[in-house]
Amino acid sequence: TRFDDLGLDPRILANVARAGYAAPSPIQALAIPPIRDGRDVEALARTGTGKTAAFVLPTVHRLLAQAVPPAAAPQPPGRIRALILSPTRELASQTAGTIRTCIRGCGLTVALAIGGVPKDRQTRALQNGIDLLVATPGRLLDHLADGTITLEETGCLVLDEADRMLDLGFVDDVRAIAARLPTRHQTLLFSATMSPAISALARQLLHKPLRVAP
Ligand code: AMP
Repeated sequence: TRFDDLGLDPRILANVARAGYAAPSPIQALAIPPIRDGRDVEALARTGTGKTAAFVLPTVHRLLAQAVPPAAAPQPPGRIRALILSPTRELASQTAGTIRTCIRGCGLTVALAIGGVPKDRQTRALQNGIDLLVATPGRLLDHLADGTITLEETGCLVLDEADRMLDLGFVDDVRAIAARLPTRHQTLLFSATMSPAISALARQLLHKPLRVAP
């Protein structure tokens, strides 16, 4: 498989080429087409396999394919189009970096909502709406409670490193966050390991998921 065969927007392909990715990794070749088509996907993939780009590239493609307000028009207050939940600040920061690489020239915005940094600056950044928000569960719930953001129009939820999310005790937070999205939305669950607890979460949050395990 070549990146050119995955049906991605040419702007994304240009960014992939600039990043020096020659060919899709196995998880990317398997996961990108169904995610691009809007399916829920449950993916078994550990760090180092290219799993971040496996959900970022098709998610960016979908955002580009949807009607976007003109650049001059501010988005509705605090609207998030795609939400990526990460178990740790470090992973969230890395994921935001990958997103920045992939959205160059696309006119999309990315922001971080993580603990350990002052909330007020994040609040200002989020107020006008963000296309892709990468967040840790606690800080995200904080912003939701403050009314800084809304997930009422969020079309895609990514649970990255779901196994670590459960290990760190975030399962109730994740459920509470998922409950704030509209009924119809896409959910992607990525995990390095599978377990009965992950399967239970996937059964609860994913709709007819495609399971991919390279
Ligand atoms: P990840 O598994 O998401 O942590 O990615 C591991 C590393 O692989 C990151 O540094 C990516 O930039 C890189 N990477 C992701 N996809 C590809 C690809 N198709 N070809 C080469 N490198 C890649």
